[in-house]
Amino acid sequence: MFFYVFLSIFLLKEIWDLVLTIWNKNYSTSPNAKIPEVFRDKISEEDFEKSKNYLRDRTNLAVIVSICDIILSVVFIIWGFPYFEKLVSSLTKSYILQGLLFFGIFSLINFLLSLPFNIYSIFVIEEKYGFNTTTPKIFITDIIKSIIISIILGIPLLSLLLWIIESDPHWWWKFALVVIIFEIFISWLYPMVIAPLFNKFYPLENEELKEKILSLLEKVHFRVSNIFVMDASKRTKKVNAYLTGIGNSRRVVLFDTIMSYSHDEILSVLAHELGHHVKKHILKLITLSSLFYIAYIYLTFLLYKSPLISSTFFVGKSYSIILYAFIFISSITYFITPLINFISRKFEYEADRFSTELLGTSKPLIDSLKRLVKENLANLNPLPLYRI
Ligand SMILES: [Zn+2]
Repeated sequence: MFFYVFLSIFLLKEIWDLVLTIWNKNYSTSPNAKIPEVFRDKISEEDFEKSKNYLRDRTNLAVIVSICDIILSVVFIIWGFPYFEKLVSSLTKSYILQGLLFFGIFSLINFLLSLPFNIYSIFVIEEKYGFNTTTPKIFITDIIKSIIISIILGIPLLSLLLWIIESDPHWWWKFALVVIIFEIFISWLYPMVIAPLFNKFYPLENEELKEKILSLLEKVHFRVSNIFVMDASKRTKKVNAYLTGIGNSRRVVLFDTIMSYSHDEILSVLAHELGHHVKKHILKLITLSSLFYIAYIYLTFLLYKSPLISSTFFVGKSYSIILYAFIFISSITYFITPLINFISRKFEYEADRFSTELLGTSKPLIDSLKRLVKENLANLNPLPLYRI
């Protein structure tokens, strides 16, 4: 019985996600879709067609990836996980080593299967629309760096979590605590140590722009050393800016691709990012995700404690039982994603409002947002369900 409940909920989530993706594409690229009134002054019919084709190409790839993923997951749930549990148990007596091998095998399979799709996405789709600047050399070194970072951070974390599960029958709160501390640690470490492995970050050079930024920063008491320009153009021509880090690692990062924008436009985007800082959005998101992790891990723990999984899927080791429990609980919690999207959109509106108030005008922000939408070929008519 539980077997069918498990598979139905898992498939329901996957198929609903797939339906939404296809529905969004059909809605946004239908012949009835028009350029929204506010964009008419900046976006031509030709730009609009191009953005629709871009969405079509990306969605088609996403659908193929998703279908492969569903098939593979079902194979793993029914046969793969029990098989690999037996395999790693025969290789070593050490429980932690077994767990590391178990998750290591799946990460490797996942990585290898997603590789051709990643290559296609960057070197075919992004290339076709003129965004791609990633060379094969950058692509390969990025992969090598990512693997090394995952190993350095992942092995100690996973070993610690496996040890907690094995040594304490009521492991859930220790498990949650470690996950939360790890997330905060990564948020702090990422801008200072991880991001610089992939990109160069340098201070703004344009003196005139710097002066303007300085006077803006004084208004919000943001330390000046924390504004960086990133060489994003080595991978893409897309334009962006973001706020990252916590505590002393906090910084605003501007893509070098934004430097062709007028000073007023850059300032308005910067003011938007400062809005995220003043309104403490990163801290709020970390608090929110911590609460989510606690609930999520506790539910996983309850399912883990019941005999349902081991008697249904013929697995006996805690690392495989917990994996099934995680898959099941995340299939259920997937349905709260609209809430998370709603909150992040609320934060974006808050930051836009902040930028407008700080600069005393909304014109440069509106102009730069329109440019961002146009140049990044963003979807002009997303499915209303996505806008909730
Ligand atoms: Zn924002």
